Amino acid sequence: MIGAIADDLTGATDIAAAFRSAGLRVGLYFDGIDADADVAGLDAAVVGLKTRTVPAADAVAQSSRAARALRAHGCGQIYFKFCSTFDSSPAGNIGPVSDALADDLSAGPVVFAPTTPVQRRTVYQGHLFVGDMLLSNSPMRDHPLTPMTDPDLRRVLQAQTARRVGSIPLQTVREGGSAVAAELARLDALGIDDVIVDAVDDRDLDAIAAAVRTSPLVTGAAGLACALGRAHASAATRADDDLDTDARLSTARTVAALAGSCSARTREQVARWRESRPAFWLDPVATPDSAALADGALAWFDAVPDGGALIYSTTDPETLHRAQAALGTARAAQIVETALGLVAVGLVRRGVDRLIVAGGETSGEVVRALGIGQGRVGAEAAPGVPWIFTDAPAPLAVLLKSGNYGDADLLVRAAQVQP
Ligand code: ADP
Repeated sequence: MIGAIADDLTGATDIAAAFRSAGLRVGLYFDGIDADADVAGLDAAVVGLKTRTVPAADAVAQSSRAARALRAHGCGQIYFKFCSTFDSSPAGNIGPVSDALADDLSAGPVVFAPTTPVQRRTVYQGHLFVGDMLLSNSPMRDHPLTPMTDPDLRRVLQAQTARRVGSIPLQTVREGGSAVAAELARLDALGIDDVIVDAVDDRDLDAIAAAVRTSPLVTGAAGLACALGRAHASAATRADDDLDTDARLSTARTVAALAGSCSARTREQVARWRESRPAFWLDPVATPDSAALADGALAWFDAVPDGGALIYSTTDPETLHRAQAALGTARAAQIVETALGLVAVGLVRRGVDRLIVAGGETSGEVVRALGIGQGRVGAEAAPGVPWIFTDAPAPLAVLLKSGNYGDADLLVRAAQVQP
């Protein structure tokens, strides 16, 4: 079994979808994994943490704890998943977390490969590209928490670790898995512990995966996870997949959607929903109280004839900035997030068993409010957005979508009852 640790929640759903698309049976664990978690019959266990921007010591402690628990559950390999744009601050947390995991696992040279072709993230000559732009020219340069202004990953990683950083060029990767393995051994002999590996397409990722298939620690984004999944799937003897997404969805027919994301793509998805389906907007300025907002939304929901309703705080940048100016950014977010968590609890009490959630932070709050500890990962509704099936505290089909994921029809499509 592969054990994966992701540094944020929608990163965990992304990598879970990658393993699943490679043919693995995947369990998803929110906010850590307990000693008594059910991992029976799984090929991969993915733990979603929220460690991307917390203090490094905290990220290290949480990640090491998750790795120990995964190993106790029988994981022979740990995959540390970071964002395909290498989101981190100058001090971490990618370096500190991978250092600690490498120590814990007595890992030899550790591969770092953020390449994810489906999202157009590639690495060449040690430099990270977003589509046809260097990382430092992409919108990531203006990210509010982790602005990425240096595209040279060797330099970015070296600033975060005391270990020596090296790289493997694309030419070597194109010679295949044995050449990558030989180069890793050569670098190891030179005292180089952390290795940025070039990759442009899935065949490159397959070569890297072949070289590290039995390494105790591998790091990267969803692209290498998928390749590693393919490598394990072809070697393992597995029963037929026992998780039929369509069958599970056909029993989860009472639908509601929640949106707390204000990202451009979510705004399109909400607008598309409102063309044909009932929707209720939460206004934190008019009602700056989470419980009152939630009560109003649930009273509205009770009056909607046949469910299929959306409750959202999504709004345009101008209205958002007015709310942030009136309430303070943190308080506005907290009022809305808490309200959406309360609404989620009220909806499940009312029998909703298919819940669609838009927004990374929003998803975290909804999962926390519902007390969901783990789920099985089903088919993707859009790239990187899998259905997740939980049994406790109630049988639910949940779709957690980060702001800019999915096409404009995703929310409407996900709500449609399967034949
Ligand atoms: P995304 O994945 O698009 O980044 P998130 O859920 O992670 O979405 O973040 C959106 C943030 O904006 C949340 O903290 C949410 O509470 C906040 N927010 C959403 N709607 C409003 C609003 N109308 N006024 C103020 N803050 C809001």
